[in-house]
Amino acid sequence: MQRRDFVHQALLGGAALAAWPRLGGSLPGGSPLGGRHARDAAASQSLRVNGQRLNGWLAAFDRVGRTPTGINRVAYSPADLEGRAFTLDLYRQSGLAPRIDAAGNIVARVPGTRADAKPIVIGSHVDSVTDGGNFDGPVGSFAAIEVARTLAENGRRLAHPLDVVVWQNEEGGTYGSRFWAGLVSEADLDKVARSGKTIREGVGLIGGDVAQVASVRRQPGSVHGYLELHIEQGGLLEKAGLKIGVVQGIVGLRWFEITITGFANHAGATPMDQRQDAMLAAARFTVAVNEAIRRVPGRQVATVGRVNVTPNTTNVIPGQVVLTVDLRDIEQRTIEQFTQTFEQLGREIGEATGTQFRFARLTDSKPALADPRVMDLVQGAATSLGLTHQRMPSGAGHDAQEMAHLGPMGMIFIPSVGGISHSPREFSHAADITNGANVLLHAVLAADRALD
Ligand SMILES: [Zn+2]
Repeated sequence: MQRRDFVHQALLGGAALAAWPRLGGSLPGGSPLGGRHARDAAASQSLRVNGQRLNGWLAAFDRVGRTPTGINRVAYSPADLEGRAFTLDLYRQSGLAPRIDAAGNIVARVPGTRADAKPIVIGSHVDSVTDGGNFDGPVGSFAAIEVARTLAENGRRLAHPLDVVVWQNEEGGTYGSRFWAGLVSEADLDKVARSGKTIREGVGLIGGDVAQVASVRRQPGSVHGYLELHIEQGGLLEKAGLKIGVVQGIVGLRWFEITITGFANHAGATPMDQRQDAMLAAARFTVAVNEAIRRVPGRQVATVGRVNVTPNTTNVIPGQVVLTVDLRDIEQRTIEQFTQTFEQLGREIGEATGTQFRFARLTDSKPALADPRVMDLVQGAATSLGLTHQRMPSGAGHDAQEMAHLGPMGMIFIPSVGGISHSPREFSHAADITNGANVLLHAVLAADRALD
Protein backbone atom coordinates (compact mmCIF):
# COMPACT_ATOMS: atom_id res chain seq x y z
CA MET A 1 0.00 0.00 0.00
CA GLN A 2 1.45 3.30 -0.97
CA ARG A 3 0.85 6.92 -0.43
CA ARG A 4 -1.38 8.48 -3.02
CA ASP A 5 -1.31 11.99 -4.27
CA PHE A 6 -3.76 14.21 -5.92
CA VAL A 7 -3.85 14.01 -9.66
CA HIS A 8 -5.99 16.00 -11.98
CA GLN A 9 -6.25 16.48 -15.69
CA ALA A 10 -5.59 20.15 -15.14
CA LEU A 11 -1.99 19.27 -14.34
CA LEU A 12 -1.48 18.13 -17.90
CA GLY A 13 -0.20 20.64 -20.39
CA GLY A 14 -2.65 21.83 -23.03
CA ALA A 15 -0.21 20.80 -25.75
CA ALA A 16 -0.15 17.25 -24.50
CA LEU A 17 -3.91 17.10 -24.68
CA ALA A 18 -4.11 18.64 -28.13
CA ALA A 19 -1.74 15.99 -29.49
CA TRP A 20 -4.26 13.26 -28.71
CA PRO A 21 -7.10 12.96 -31.21
CA ARG A 22 -10.51 11.70 -30.16
CA LEU A 23 -10.43 8.01 -30.03
CA GLY A 24 -11.43 5.67 -32.82
CA GLY A 25 -8.97 6.45 -35.58
CA SER A 26 -5.97 5.45 -33.52
CA LEU A 27 -6.99 1.93 -32.62
CA PRO A 28 -5.12 -1.07 -33.97
CA GLY A 29 -8.38 -2.23 -35.51
CA GLY A 30 -9.21 0.67 -37.78
CA SER A 31 -6.59 2.85 -39.40
CA PRO A 32 -7.73 6.02 -41.12
CA LEU A 33 -4.13 6.88 -41.93
CA GLY A 34 -2.79 6.88 -45.46
CA GLY A 35 0.45 5.79 -47.25
CA ARG A 36 3.37 4.65 -45.12
CA HIS A 37 1.34 5.12 -41.96
CA ALA A 38 -1.30 2.70 -43.22
CA ARG A 39 1.35 0.11 -44.07
CA ASP A 40 3.00 0.59 -40.65
CA ALA A 41 -0.34 0.27 -38.92
CA ALA A 42 -1.21 -2.88 -40.86
CA ALA A 43 2.19 -4.43 -40.10
CA SER A 44 1.89 -3.42 -36.44
CA GLN A 45 -1.45 -5.11 -36.08
CA SER A 46 0.09 -8.57 -36.41
CA LEU A 47 2.92 -7.87 -33.96
CA ARG A 48 3.08 -10.09 -30.87
CA VAL A 49 5.52 -10.29 -27.98
CA ASN A 50 7.52 -13.46 -27.41
CA GLY A 51 5.51 -14.86 -24.50
CA GLN A 52 7.74 -17.85 -24.01
CA ARG A 53 10.77 -15.62 -23.59
CA LEU A 54 8.93 -13.28 -21.20
CA ASN A 55 7.65 -16.13 -19.03
CA GLY A 56 11.10 -17.75 -19.12
CA TRP A 57 12.57 -14.57 -17.62
CA LEU A 58 9.95 -14.60 -14.87
CA ALA A 59 10.62 -18.26 -14.09
CA ALA A 60 14.36 -17.60 -13.83
CA PHE A 61 13.74 -14.55 -11.65
CA ASP A 62 11.78 -16.68 -9.16
CA ARG A 63 15.03 -17.86 -7.53
CA VAL A 64 16.19 -14.28 -6.78
CA GLY A 65 15.39 -13.46 -3.18
CA ARG A 66 13.47 -16.71 -2.75
CA THR A 67 13.35 -17.80 0.91
CA PRO A 68 11.34 -20.52 2.66
CA THR A 69 8.68 -17.92 3.52
CA GLY A 70 8.41 -16.23 0.11
CA ILE A 71 10.16 -13.75 -2.17
CA ASN A 72 12.14 -11.21 -0.15
CA ARG A 73 13.49 -8.51 -2.45
CA VAL A 74 12.74 -5.58 -0.19
CA ALA A 75 14.26 -2.34 -1.48
CA TYR A 76 17.99 -1.88 -0.88
CA SER A 77 18.48 -5.43 0.44
CA PRO A 78 21.13 -7.74 -1.10
CA ALA A 79 18.30 -9.61 -2.89
CA ASP A 80 16.99 -6.32 -4.34
CA LEU A 81 20.48 -5.59 -5.66
CA GLU A 82 20.60 -9.08 -7.14
CA GLY A 83 17.18 -8.56 -8.74
CA ARG A 84 18.29 -5.26 -10.24
CA ALA A 85 21.45 -6.88 -11.63
CA PHE A 86 19.29 -9.61 -13.19
CA THR A 87 17.02 -6.93 -14.67
CA LEU A 88 19.94 -4.87 -16.02
CA ASP A 89 21.14 -8.02 -17.74
CA LEU A 90 17.72 -8.47 -19.41
CA TYR A 91 17.89 -4.90 -20.70
CA ARG A 92 21.33 -5.54 -22.21
CA GLN A 93 20.35 -8.92 -23.69
CA SER A 94 17.43 -7.13 -25.29
CA GLY A 95 19.62 -4.52 -26.97
CA LEU A 96 18.65 -1.73 -24.58
CA ALA A 97 21.27 0.54 -23.00
CA PRO A 98 20.18 0.92 -19.36
CA ARG A 99 21.45 3.57 -16.98
CA ILE A 100 20.71 4.25 -13.34
CA ASP A 101 19.27 7.71 -12.85
CA ALA A 102 20.08 9.81 -9.77
CA ALA A 103 16.97 8.46 -8.03
CA GLY A 104 18.15 4.89 -8.55
CA ASN A 105 15.63 3.97 -11.25
CA ILE A 106 16.75 1.80 -14.16
CA VAL A 107 16.02 3.67 -17.38
CA ALA A 108 16.67 2.97 -21.05
CA ARG A 109 15.56 5.20 -23.88
CA VAL A 110 14.77 3.97 -27.36
CA PRO A 111 14.94 7.06 -29.59
CA GLY A 112 11.91 7.92 -31.69
CA THR A 113 11.82 9.17 -35.26
CA ARG A 114 10.58 12.61 -34.18
CA ALA A 115 13.22 14.54 -32.30
CA ASP A 116 10.73 16.92 -30.71
CA ALA A 117 8.29 14.28 -29.45
CA LYS A 118 7.69 13.65 -25.75
CA PRO A 119 8.47 10.15 -24.49
CA ILE A 120 6.09 7.28 -23.96
CA VAL A 121 7.07 5.72 -20.63
CA ILE A 122 6.44 2.06 -19.74
CA GLY A 123 7.57 0.01 -16.76
CA SER A 124 6.95 -1.23 -13.25
CA HIS A 125 9.12 -2.39 -10.31
CA VAL A 126 11.12 -5.45 -9.21
CA ASP A 127 11.32 -4.86 -5.44
CA SER A 128 8.93 -6.88 -3.28
CA VAL A 129 7.24 -6.74 0.09
CA THR A 130 8.45 -9.00 2.90
CA ASP A 131 7.43 -12.60 2.12
CA GLY A 132 5.89 -11.59 -1.20
CA GLY A 133 5.59 -13.25 -4.60
CA ASN A 134 7.31 -13.16 -7.98
CA PHE A 135 4.59 -11.45 -10.02
CA ASP A 136 3.78 -8.11 -8.36
CA GLY A 137 6.13 -5.81 -10.28
CA PRO A 138 8.31 -8.15 -12.34
CA VAL A 139 5.39 -8.94 -14.71
CA GLY A 140 5.10 -5.30 -15.81
CA SER A 141 8.84 -4.62 -15.69
CA PHE A 142 9.83 -7.56 -17.85
CA ALA A 143 6.85 -7.05 -20.17
CA ALA A 144 8.06 -3.48 -20.78
CA ILE A 145 11.52 -4.81 -21.75
CA GLU A 146 9.88 -7.47 -23.93
CA VAL A 147 7.73 -4.86 -25.69
CA ALA A 148 10.82 -2.76 -26.53
CA ARG A 149 12.60 -5.87 -27.75
CA THR A 150 9.66 -6.98 -29.90
CA LEU A 151 9.53 -3.55 -31.54
CA ALA A 152 13.29 -3.63 -32.23
CA GLU A 153 13.27 -7.18 -33.56
CA ASN A 154 10.53 -6.24 -35.99
CA GLY A 155 12.25 -3.04 -37.08
CA ARG A 156 9.32 -1.02 -35.75
CA ARG A 157 10.51 2.38 -34.63
CA LEU A 158 8.08 4.64 -32.80
CA ALA A 159 7.69 8.33 -33.53
CA HIS A 160 8.05 9.01 -29.81
CA PRO A 161 11.03 8.08 -27.69
CA LEU A 162 10.23 5.03 -25.55
CA ASP A 163 11.50 5.09 -21.96
CA VAL A 164 11.61 1.63 -20.38
CA VAL A 165 11.75 2.17 -16.62
CA VAL A 166 12.06 -0.08 -13.58
CA TRP A 167 11.16 2.05 -10.60
CA GLN A 168 13.08 1.63 -7.35
CA ASN A 169 11.38 0.99 -3.99
CA GLU A 170 7.78 0.88 -5.12
CA GLU A 171 6.64 -1.22 -2.17
CA GLY A 172 8.15 1.18 0.38
CA GLY A 173 6.20 4.16 -1.01
CA THR A 174 6.60 4.55 -4.82
CA TYR A 175 9.91 6.36 -4.28
CA GLY A 176 11.37 6.06 -7.77
CA SER A 177 8.35 7.55 -9.53
CA ARG A 178 7.80 10.12 -6.77
CA PHE A 179 11.32 11.42 -7.41
CA TRP A 180 10.35 11.97 -11.07
CA ALA A 181 7.22 13.81 -10.00
CA GLY A 182 9.17 15.89 -7.45
CA LEU A 183 7.14 14.57 -4.53
CA VAL A 184 9.88 13.26 -2.24
CA SER A 185 10.59 15.63 0.63
CA GLU A 186 13.86 16.15 2.50
CA ALA A 187 12.26 14.42 5.51
CA ASP A 188 11.39 11.41 3.36
CA LEU A 189 15.09 10.86 2.65
CA ASP A 190 15.72 10.02 6.30
CA LYS A 191 12.87 7.52 6.56
CA VAL A 192 14.00 3.98 7.20
CA ALA A 193 13.05 1.38 4.60
CA ARG A 194 12.21 -2.24 5.40
CA SER A 195 15.81 -3.23 4.69
CA GLY A 196 16.93 -1.01 7.59
CA LYS A 197 18.57 1.52 5.25
CA THR A 198 17.36 5.10 4.99
CA ILE A 199 16.04 6.20 1.60
CA ARG A 200 19.15 8.37 1.25
CA GLU A 201 21.48 5.43 1.92
CA GLY A 202 19.41 3.11 -0.24
CA VAL A 203 19.45 5.38 -3.28
CA GLY A 204 23.25 5.56 -3.02
CA LEU A 205 23.51 1.82 -2.60
CA ILE A 206 21.65 1.09 -5.86
CA GLY A 207 23.71 3.52 -7.91
CA GLY A 208 21.80 6.80 -7.51
CA ASP A 209 22.79 9.99 -5.74
CA VAL A 210 20.27 12.06 -3.76
CA ALA A 211 22.48 15.16 -4.16
CA GLN A 212 21.75 15.01 -7.91
CA VAL A 213 18.15 13.94 -7.63
CA ALA A 214 16.73 17.22 -8.97
CA SER A 215 18.03 16.08 -12.37
CA VAL A 216 15.43 13.30 -12.62
CA ARG A 217 12.48 15.58 -11.98
CA ARG A 218 10.09 15.91 -14.91
CA GLN A 219 7.49 18.56 -15.46
CA PRO A 220 3.73 18.02 -15.70
CA GLY A 221 2.86 17.54 -19.36
CA SER A 222 6.37 16.32 -20.26
CA VAL A 223 5.29 12.71 -20.83
CA HIS A 224 3.25 11.69 -23.90
CA GLY A 225 1.79 8.75 -22.01
CA TYR A 226 2.57 6.30 -19.21
CA LEU A 227 1.47 2.67 -19.35
CA GLU A 228 1.98 -0.01 -16.70
CA LEU A 229 1.03 -3.67 -16.83
CA HIS A 230 0.39 -5.22 -13.41
CA ILE A 231 -1.28 -8.20 -11.81
CA GLU A 232 -4.73 -7.33 -10.49
CA GLN A 233 -4.03 -8.30 -6.83
CA GLY A 234 -7.74 -8.93 -6.38
CA GLY A 235 -10.09 -11.62 -7.62
CA LEU A 236 -12.50 -9.62 -9.79
CA LEU A 237 -11.12 -10.60 -13.21
CA GLU A 238 -10.79 -14.26 -12.31
CA LYS A 239 -14.28 -14.34 -10.85
CA ALA A 240 -15.77 -12.66 -13.93
CA GLY A 241 -13.77 -14.93 -16.26
CA LEU A 242 -12.21 -11.89 -17.97
CA LYS A 243 -8.67 -11.54 -19.33
CA ILE A 244 -7.88 -7.84 -19.08
CA GLY A 245 -8.66 -5.05 -16.64
CA VAL A 246 -8.72 -1.55 -18.09
CA VAL A 247 -7.76 0.40 -15.00
CA GLN A 248 -9.78 3.53 -14.28
CA GLY A 249 -7.29 4.79 -11.74
CA ILE A 250 -5.95 4.22 -8.29
CA VAL A 251 -8.50 4.73 -5.56
CA GLY A 252 -8.30 7.62 -3.14
CA LEU A 253 -7.95 6.80 0.52
CA ARG A 254 -8.92 8.45 3.78
CA TRP A 255 -7.91 7.14 7.18
CA PHE A 256 -9.81 8.25 10.27
CA GLU A 257 -8.81 7.79 13.86
CA ILE A 258 -11.93 8.02 15.99
CA THR A 259 -11.82 8.48 19.73
CA ILE A 260 -14.99 7.43 21.52
CA THR A 261 -15.21 8.67 25.07
CA GLY A 262 -17.64 7.18 27.58
CA PHE A 263 -17.19 6.59 31.30
CA ALA A 264 -15.21 3.75 32.89
CA ASN A 265 -17.16 2.29 35.79
CA HIS A 266 -17.72 -0.88 37.77
CA ALA A 267 -18.96 -3.76 35.60
CA GLY A 268 -20.92 -5.24 38.49
CA ALA A 269 -22.34 -2.26 40.34
CA THR A 270 -23.45 -0.05 37.39
CA PRO A 271 -27.01 -0.79 36.15
CA MET A 272 -27.34 -1.44 32.41
CA ASP A 273 -29.38 1.71 31.79
CA GLN A 274 -26.82 3.96 33.47
CA ARG A 275 -23.74 3.13 31.43
CA GLN A 276 -21.64 5.15 29.02
CA ASP A 277 -19.99 2.18 27.37
CA ALA A 278 -17.45 3.25 24.74
CA MET A 279 -17.01 -0.33 23.54
CA LEU A 280 -20.72 -0.73 22.89
CA ALA A 281 -20.65 2.51 20.90
CA ALA A 282 -17.62 1.27 18.97
CA ALA A 283 -19.34 -2.02 18.17
CA ARG A 284 -22.48 -0.27 16.92
CA PHE A 285 -20.38 2.14 14.90
CA THR A 286 -18.39 -0.71 13.31
CA VAL A 287 -21.57 -2.42 12.17
CA ALA A 288 -23.13 0.87 11.02
CA VAL A 289 -20.07 1.75 8.87
CA ASN A 290 -20.24 -1.64 7.16
CA GLU A 291 -23.98 -1.34 6.53
CA ALA A 292 -23.71 2.22 5.23
CA ILE A 293 -20.99 1.29 2.74
CA ARG A 294 -22.89 -1.74 1.48
CA ARG A 295 -26.22 0.03 1.18
CA VAL A 296 -25.02 2.17 -1.74
CA PRO A 297 -24.15 0.54 -5.11
CA GLY A 298 -20.49 0.94 -6.11
CA ARG A 299 -17.04 -0.41 -5.33
CA GLN A 300 -16.36 1.79 -2.28
CA VAL A 301 -14.87 -0.03 0.72
CA ALA A 302 -14.48 0.82 4.40
CA THR A 303 -12.77 -1.11 7.16
CA VAL A 304 -12.57 -0.72 10.91
CA GLY A 305 -9.11 -2.22 11.30
CA ARG A 306 -7.66 -1.22 14.64
CA VAL A 307 -9.39 -0.97 18.02
CA ASN A 308 -7.77 0.07 21.29
CA VAL A 309 -9.91 -0.26 24.37
CA THR A 310 -9.24 1.48 27.68
CA PRO A 311 -8.88 0.16 30.32
CA ASN A 312 -9.29 -3.19 28.49
CA THR A 313 -10.08 -5.05 31.67
CA THR A 314 -12.63 -7.76 32.37
CA ASN A 315 -14.54 -6.05 35.19
CA VAL A 316 -14.59 -2.42 34.02
CA ILE A 317 -16.99 -0.82 31.53
CA PRO A 318 -14.77 0.52 28.74
CA GLY A 319 -14.29 4.27 29.19
CA GLN A 320 -12.56 4.95 25.91
CA VAL A 321 -12.10 3.31 22.52
CA VAL A 322 -9.82 4.52 19.76
CA LEU A 323 -10.55 2.92 16.40
CA THR A 324 -9.55 3.48 12.80
CA VAL A 325 -11.58 3.52 9.59
CA ASP A 326 -9.94 3.02 6.20
CA LEU A 327 -12.20 4.41 3.44
CA ARG A 328 -11.41 4.10 -0.30
CA ASP A 329 -13.03 4.84 -3.63
CA ILE A 330 -12.12 5.93 -7.13
CA GLU A 331 -14.43 8.96 -6.78
CA GLN A 332 -13.43 11.75 -4.42
CA ARG A 333 -17.11 12.71 -4.18
CA THR A 334 -17.91 9.30 -2.70
CA ILE A 335 -15.15 9.70 -0.11
CA GLU A 336 -16.57 13.08 0.91
CA GLN A 337 -20.12 11.69 1.10
CA PHE A 338 -19.14 8.78 3.33
CA THR A 339 -17.08 11.08 5.53
CA GLN A 340 -20.30 12.95 6.26
CA THR A 341 -22.21 9.71 6.75
CA PHE A 342 -19.66 8.42 9.28
CA GLU A 343 -19.67 11.67 11.21
CA GLN A 344 -23.46 11.60 11.32
CA LEU A 345 -23.42 7.98 12.55
CA GLY A 346 -20.96 9.04 15.25
CA ARG A 347 -23.33 11.75 16.45
CA GLU A 348 -26.35 9.43 16.48
CA ILE A 349 -24.63 6.51 18.19
CA GLY A 350 -22.93 8.89 20.63
CA GLU A 351 -26.32 10.27 21.60
CA ALA A 352 -27.86 6.82 21.98
CA THR A 353 -24.99 5.48 24.12
CA GLY A 354 -24.04 8.54 26.15
CA THR A 355 -20.62 8.73 24.52
CA GLN A 356 -18.74 11.28 22.43
CA PHE A 357 -17.12 10.67 19.04
CA ARG A 358 -14.10 12.72 17.99
CA PHE A 359 -12.85 12.30 14.41
CA ALA A 360 -9.25 12.88 13.30
CA ARG A 361 -7.74 12.20 9.87
CA LEU A 362 -4.50 10.25 9.70
CA THR A 363 -4.10 10.09 5.92
CA ASP A 364 -5.84 11.66 2.99
CA SER A 365 -4.91 10.95 -0.59
CA LYS A 366 -6.98 11.74 -3.61
CA PRO A 367 -7.75 9.25 -6.39
CA ALA A 368 -5.20 9.15 -9.23
CA LEU A 369 -7.31 8.86 -12.35
CA ALA A 370 -6.30 7.14 -15.54
CA ASP A 371 -6.70 9.29 -18.63
CA PRO A 372 -9.95 8.38 -20.47
CA ARG A 373 -8.11 8.42 -23.82
CA VAL A 374 -5.48 6.00 -22.54
CA MET A 375 -8.25 3.77 -21.17
CA ASP A 376 -9.77 3.78 -24.66
CA LEU A 377 -6.42 2.82 -26.19
CA VAL A 378 -5.97 -0.05 -23.73
CA GLN A 379 -9.52 -1.21 -24.34
CA GLY A 380 -9.02 -0.95 -28.11
CA ALA A 381 -5.84 -3.02 -27.87
CA ALA A 382 -7.62 -5.71 -25.83
CA THR A 383 -10.53 -5.77 -28.30
CA SER A 384 -8.25 -6.03 -31.34
CA LEU A 385 -6.48 -8.98 -29.66
CA GLY A 386 -9.81 -10.68 -28.96
CA LEU A 387 -9.37 -10.42 -25.19
CA THR A 388 -12.36 -9.98 -22.90
CA HIS A 389 -12.07 -7.01 -20.58
CA GLN A 390 -13.73 -4.71 -18.08
CA ARG A 391 -13.02 -1.29 -16.60
CA MET A 392 -12.08 -1.36 -12.94
CA PRO A 393 -10.35 0.70 -10.27
CA SER A 394 -7.11 -0.33 -8.59
CA GLY A 395 -7.46 -0.71 -4.84
CA ALA A 396 -3.68 -0.89 -4.43
CA GLY A 397 -1.16 1.87 -5.02
CA HIS A 398 1.20 1.86 -8.02
CA ASP A 399 3.91 4.01 -9.60
CA ALA A 400 1.27 4.96 -12.18
CA GLN A 401 -0.38 7.18 -9.55
CA GLU A 402 2.74 9.38 -9.43
CA MET A 403 3.20 9.32 -13.22
CA ALA A 404 -0.34 10.64 -13.57
CA HIS A 405 1.14 13.98 -12.46
CA LEU A 406 3.36 14.06 -15.55
CA GLY A 407 1.11 12.96 -18.39
CA PRO A 408 -1.85 10.80 -19.43
CA MET A 409 -1.63 7.54 -17.48
CA GLY A 410 -3.16 4.13 -17.95
CA MET A 411 -2.77 0.67 -16.47
CA ILE A 412 -3.48 -2.85 -17.67
CA PHE A 413 -4.46 -5.58 -15.20
CA ILE A 414 -4.26 -9.33 -15.72
CA PRO A 415 -5.92 -11.94 -13.45
CA SER A 416 -4.32 -13.03 -10.16
CA VAL A 417 -5.20 -16.63 -9.31
CA GLY A 418 -7.39 -16.63 -6.21
CA GLY A 419 -7.00 -12.85 -6.00
CA ILE A 420 -3.88 -13.39 -3.88
CA SER A 421 -0.91 -11.02 -3.80
CA HIS A 422 1.80 -9.83 -1.42
CA SER A 423 2.08 -13.52 -0.60
CA PRO A 424 4.24 -16.44 -1.72
CA ARG A 425 0.98 -17.86 -3.16
CA GLU A 426 0.71 -14.99 -5.62
CA PHE A 427 0.39 -16.45 -9.14
CA SER A 428 -0.66 -15.48 -12.65
CA HIS A 429 -0.87 -17.86 -15.60
CA ALA A 430 1.75 -17.58 -18.35
CA ALA A 431 -0.94 -17.13 -21.01
CA ASP A 432 -2.46 -14.22 -19.08
CA ILE A 433 0.97 -12.59 -18.71
CA THR A 434 1.55 -12.91 -22.46
CA ASN A 435 -1.90 -11.44 -23.14
CA GLY A 436 -1.15 -8.50 -20.88
CA ALA A 437 2.19 -7.87 -22.59
CA ASN A 438 0.49 -7.90 -25.99
CA VAL A 439 -2.08 -5.38 -24.78
CA LEU A 440 0.79 -3.23 -23.51
CA LEU A 441 2.51 -3.51 -26.92
CA HIS A 442 -0.59 -2.49 -28.85
CA ALA A 443 -1.52 0.25 -26.43
CA VAL A 444 1.99 1.68 -26.90
CA LEU A 445 1.63 1.50 -30.69
CA ALA A 446 -1.76 3.19 -30.48
CA ALA A 447 -0.43 5.88 -28.15
CA ASP A 448 2.40 6.51 -30.59
CA ARG A 449 0.00 6.90 -33.54
CA ALA A 450 -2.17 9.23 -31.47
CA LEU A 451 0.28 12.02 -32.35
CA ASP A 452 -0.77 11.99 -36.00
ZN1 LIG B 1 3.37 -3.69 -7.65
